[in-house]
Amino acid sequence: MPPGPHFVQGATRILDPHASRHCPAPFIFYDTAMAIIRDAAIVLARLDFSETSQVLVFFTREHGKIRAIGKGLKRGTKTRFAVGIDLLEHGRLAASVRQEHSGALATVTEWVQTESLAGLRRTLSCLYSAQYLAEITAHLTEDGDPHMPLFDALVERLVELGSAPQPLAVVVDYQRTLLECIGSHPRFDGCVLCGRETDLTYFSAHQGGMICRHCEAGQVEKREVSAATLESLRGDASPTSPAGPFVLLDYHIAHLMGRQPLLTSKLITRAQQRSVL
Ligand SMILES: [Zn+2]
Repeated sequence: MPPGPHFVQGATRILDPHASRHCPAPFIFYDTAMAIIRDAAIVLARLDFSETSQVLVFFTREHGKIRAIGKGLKRGTKTRFAVGIDLLEHGRLAASVRQEHSGALATVTEWVQTESLAGLRRTLSCLYSAQYLAEITAHLTEDGDPHMPLFDALVERLVELGSAPQPLAVVVDYQRTLLECIGSHPRFDGCVLCGRETDLTYFSAHQGGMICRHCEAGQVEKREVSAATLESLRGDASPTSPAGPFVLLDYHIAHLMGRQPLLTSKLITRAQQRSVL
């Protein structure tokens, strides 16, 4: 416990948990264990918390994922309507974080948008694809665990999506980068159970890769993989359609997340409308 009350401008007021119940009023001190971080960031998720505040999930370049509350962000004036911070904005974040409690919400102290990703709203396919990237990044990275190459890849893919003729191909690229960065990329070059490089017909998310037809009988969780999809994922052939690789990688990602991403069905529906499935 600190030796006495600390009054620090901008610090968070907390109640002393050790206050005696005989004490007429809880002893209040001010926490000095706050740090301001400044970093490039992308908004992965947003929740309107009250009429003026938002809870935001940022993916920052050097500090990883940060959950933060933005107080007063939506407070407009008579002449200006404030909408707060939007999903998929790319900018510079300054946030006040509790150093000793990585799970606690940080507080947004400054947000400056550095790049407009307006191209993402060009078509529904682009927008859903971008939202899918945000969703899987938010669920498969840990708070405060930085992945700089992944952050850079996410920015590049979001820019690319703004003008991509086939958004799903960009999504597949990012699925693979994300899985590599978190150490969960499946094995496609051989059977995960016996090492055989031929007769690879099934995929098991639980086993983490392809299974040959000699080993598949003993596996409950598995799905069949077409030769074209496997060739595309192994780089043996230029992909004619990204739909097969997308569905398979999404199956693996859903296994890691414990549920299917919310945007999966929307992406599949759009792909079907483009007749690429
Ligand atoms: Zn095998």
